Amino acid sequence: MTKHHPIIGFHSLRVCAMGRGPATRPADTLTACMMAGFDLSMNIESLFPYINAVTKKAEMFENPPYIRFEFDHTLCVLHPDKGFASPFDDNVDARDFMMRLMAFLNDIYYGKERITPKYKLFSQADITLILKLLPRTNCNDCGFTTCMAFAAMLGRQQTIPARCPHISRPVQEKAVFPIMDKDGKLLSTLTLNVDNTKNINDLDSARQYIETLQNKIEQLSGMKKDLRDEANRQLQTPLSQREIDVLQMLALGSTNAEIGLLLYISPHTVKSHINHIFNKLGVNSRTQASVWATQHHFV
Ligand code: SF4
Repeated sequence: MTKHHPIIGFHSLRVCAMGRGPATRPADTLTACMMAGFDLSMNIESLFPYINAVTKKAEMFENPPYIRFEFDHTLCVLHPDKGFASPFDDNVDARDFMMRLMAFLNDIYYGKERITPKYKLFSQADITLILKLLPRTNCNDCGFTTCMAFAAMLGRQQTIPARCPHISRPVQEKAVFPIMDKDGKLLSTLTLNVDNTKNINDLDSARQYIETLQNKIEQLSGMKKDLRDEANRQLQTPLSQREIDVLQMLALGSTNAEIGLLLYISPHTVKSHINHIFNKLGVNSRTQASVWATQHHFV
């Protein structure tokens, strides 16, 4: 509860029945479901972005201005000077809830400086159009079991496009700016379309360039391997794969102990491999073996 004098209150509370639960339930288990309508003691439109920031399932609208959110497991719809909430069991339940809701609104009113307001307006996107952006493989990479479930949540702005790694990229981004008066009251919002086609084209060019370089590197690696295999075949007794591994590490400056550790063999075995390598290459030092390995594209 707020320690400040509560500034936001309610009056004209009206509690009425809104139905008797789902028709699929047996008649004897149905309970009356009540909803409450009320008027507010002041205009709270400037609080909407703060409520939008701190409540669950918040959906803020602009024309007309109102906000829908969940508080205490209860659905609330607040207009600037009135509101509705449901469901309740009875009058007492509704009145208790109204006390908690008013305390919550007063806490927001007095704690605004500690809350980063969220000006993003809710707009329900067409789910069938979102589905067309998706590959519809139901791969579950986004954490949703189906593309349809992901599309439904995305349409309600309860997830973000980036969670699906397979969604096509936007060519434009929207930026929403708050328009405030001199007292910091939200007057409206301005949505600007930021065309990022150029950025995307630049990224695509950079990606293509990287792919070209990768292909060249792969080609060169393949050529290098061919030259290496040919050099090995020219030896009177070709090196075994294990000896090639040892030679490559030796040429890169590794000690016998390091080679042993990396290849999971004892230093004694490393030494034995090196002796065989020297004999096969016709050299008598590590330096000469390294030069041979470099000249014949082993490193
Ligand atoms: S990651 Fe994308 S393609 Fe995979 S299930 Fe989710 S929405 Fe569908």
